[in-house]
Amino acid sequence: MEAMPLSPEEMWALQFLDRHSGDWYCTRCWADAMRTAVRPLYRLSVLMGTDQALLAGYEAKADGPCKVHEAKGPRAGGVRGTRCVRSLGKVAVPRNDGAAKEVGR
Ligand SMILES: [Zn+2]
Repeated sequence: MEAMPLSPEEMWALQFLDRHSGDWYCTRCWADAMRTAVRPLYRLSVLMGTDQALLAGYEAKADGPCKVHEAKGPRAGGVRGTRCVRSLGKVAVPRNDGAAKEVGR
């Protein structure tokens, strides 16, 4: 698989995840929170399953639970056509802001 550079939009999406480091987002909630389309985020979530996110300086995990949909109960959990991702923080850059802001709706 050939490594592609990430687009500015994708970098933005990764930065968003990084600000909520440790929180799982399914692609739908991620798109909701960023007010953007699901499709490019889904593509990005697939890339995050490879080492391309690492190349961009981000370490990420995919296929975890979505905390928003989990909280809504089993019927809402595991929404079809979504993948869950989270940032493990930007690699080799210490974080200092400590702000874990809740995403409203
Ligand atoms: Zn979700």
